[in-house]
Amino acid sequence: MSDIKETLQYMTLLQEVDKKLFYLEFSKGDLPKTVAKLKGALEKFKKQIKESKSETKNNDKKQQNIENLVELAAEKLKKYQNQLYDVTSNKEYDAITQEIELKKKDIEEGETNILELIEMNENNQSMLEEYEEECLRTKKELGGKERELNALLKATEKQELELIHRREKISVRLKEPMLKRYERIRKAKSNLAVVPITREACGGCFTTIPPQKIVEVEKLLILIQCEVCGRFLIPENKLDKVSL
Ligand SMILES: [Zn+2]
Repeated sequence: MSDIKETLQYMTLLQEVDKKLFYLEFSKGDLPKTVAKLKGALEKFKKQIKESKSETKNNDKKQQNIENLVELAAEKLKKYQNQLYDVTSNKEYDAITQEIELKKKDIEEGETNILELIEMNENNQSMLEEYEEECLRTKKELGGKERELNALLKATEKQELELIHRREKISVRLKEPMLKRYERIRKAKSNLAVVPITREACGGCFTTIPPQKIVEVEKLLILIQCEVCGRFLIPENKLDKVSL
């Protein structure tokens, strides 16, 4: 048996297994992708919830600090206002009035900041509620889809394992570079890397093959690829099946 013939036989065998694996994967539909997508979304919501909570906590802390400062400023303001009754000179009066104005400004600014923080936290709270709702909804949906996928995987697991095992057994019969070429073509050409010449045409893209080339393919001395689609060509009905 020539090396080329053997290579083509094992490639054909491999292709049959790959086709079955492809249909098995195909039968799972969008489920694996949907599950992965929902998992990603769930992580995102969890992160947003965490960030939102930590922002609220930070704002609360900031608010507490500002409230303390405002309280302090109010106390001082009261003190200055009382001092006004006891002033003895215009200079002193002006100095205290200036302090009073400064404290009033501090208090006003502090109160504005507090209001802003309260507003921010109110927004945060409503966002948080939205995230939590979305998180719950996503969790529920994910649970359902995961159960569906697991049932499907359980049903196909045995067949899939058998096919993977068979694939390994065939793969080792092919040389590494050959296997890589096969994989490259299969992936690019809708799961068909090896095709028979059928009615003098490529069985993959149906381009007519010149008679001289058909003779070359039948000789099985070198690997010949279709010039148009690049698939490996095998002679029609002249390649007996090998068993593994
Ligand atoms: Zn072709």
